Amino acid sequence: MKINEKQLALVDRQIKRILESGNYYSEVYKKAGITGVSTPEDFEKIPFTDKADLRNAYPLGIQAVPDEKVVRIHSSSGTTGKPVIIPYTAKDVDDWAMMFARCYEIAGITPADRIQITPGYGLWTAGIGFQAGCEKLGAMAIPMGPGNTEKQLQMMIDLQSTVICATSSYALLLAEEINKRGLRDKIKLKKGIIGSERWSDAKRNYIARELGIELYDIYGLTEIYGPGIGINCPGETGMHIFDDCLYTEIIDPKTGEILPDGEEGEIVITTLVKEGAPLIRFRTHDLSRIIPGECSCGRTYPRLDTIKGRSDDMFKVHGVNMFPSQVEEILGQVDGVSSEYKIDIAHDGNKNRDIIMITAEADGRVDFEKTAEEIRNLFKSKLNVTPNVVIVSLNTLPRSEKKTQRVFDHRGD
Ligand code: ZN
Repeated sequence: MKINEKQLALVDRQIKRILESGNYYSEVYKKAGITGVSTPEDFEKIPFTDKADLRNAYPLGIQAVPDEKVVRIHSSSGTTGKPVIIPYTAKDVDDWAMMFARCYEIAGITPADRIQITPGYGLWTAGIGFQAGCEKLGAMAIPMGPGNTEKQLQMMIDLQSTVICATSSYALLLAEEINKRGLRDKIKLKKGIIGSERWSDAKRNYIARELGIELYDIYGLTEIYGPGIGINCPGETGMHIFDDCLYTEIIDPKTGEILPDGEEGEIVITTLVKEGAPLIRFRTHDLSRIIPGECSCGRTYPRLDTIKGRSDDMFKVHGVNMFPSQVEEILGQVDGVSSEYKIDIAHDGNKNRDIIMITAEADGRVDFEKTAEEIRNLFKSKLNVTPNVVIVSLNTLPRSEKKTQRVFDHRGD
């Protein structure tokens, strides 16, 4: 979806404001000779930016308004190096709440609902975003924050919460507790709003079934307001993204080339009206695709497909982009196989083709050879590649509390 006239005019205004502000990006754009945009081609020449720039500009280098206009900051933690600080004006806070309220509305939530909010409050954008959107909608916020399961369940029962906002892990934990304690008849939950991350269908189905609720994926990142910039509508998996505030592109994460609608790649977002910290062509490193065509719900906001993972995790075999999530999905369907695995990719010079090897764990009940065969067949039918599969005993593969490296590419060795 090409950038339209109205969006272009907004980007042009953003660039002029940035240049006037003298902030970090004003230097970048001055050096690149960028003074504004009047065509889609101008827009496509603006360099991408990402978290590394925001770290360079720490703490407030990206602020594009005078201090008097800033009403709040948020920060994303980041696993390495400095955190990132994002300043917000009163209008930014209000625009975010307006988008979040739209998300609730799309999910069919009304002012009569009672929304139990379990994501964290503080520097993090999570809890406060869920709350501001709830208040903007006019529903009742129950601002719990994370943890304290006893209290969560008590409030859920006593206040008859109808909506739960949570990470998928916490929603799962609550579902398990409710199940274990036989509280299902005492709760009135109808919907769950789950912060968008990659999560398995098995987990989703368990939570939906045990709590008897509809689940919605809400999208967002601290650098671009926070959660609440997009959500899926009932019955559909695509997340509507609000194109009056944001312009979304999909690029090839390796080459930076803009991909046509429907093709999978990295999400790049431009903020069209953000004042405190405008970002133009921000690389999210989240992988998805723009779903072409119109949504059955009739809304015209463009749609992003479910997040497929992070661009840092993507790998290419036989010219086809693949993601660890696809491997996880397949392994999740095989009896006795754990969620730990390793992917090795090498090149066979004699046959001039790539070889993919999957190492997975299985428990002692199952026949390792048959399990390997089953995995091989699933890969063939679902991804059209035939890997070598090695099954090892449970707990053979290394466990890590941090992010485990799963893909080892030996093609350059
Ligand atoms: Zn829709």
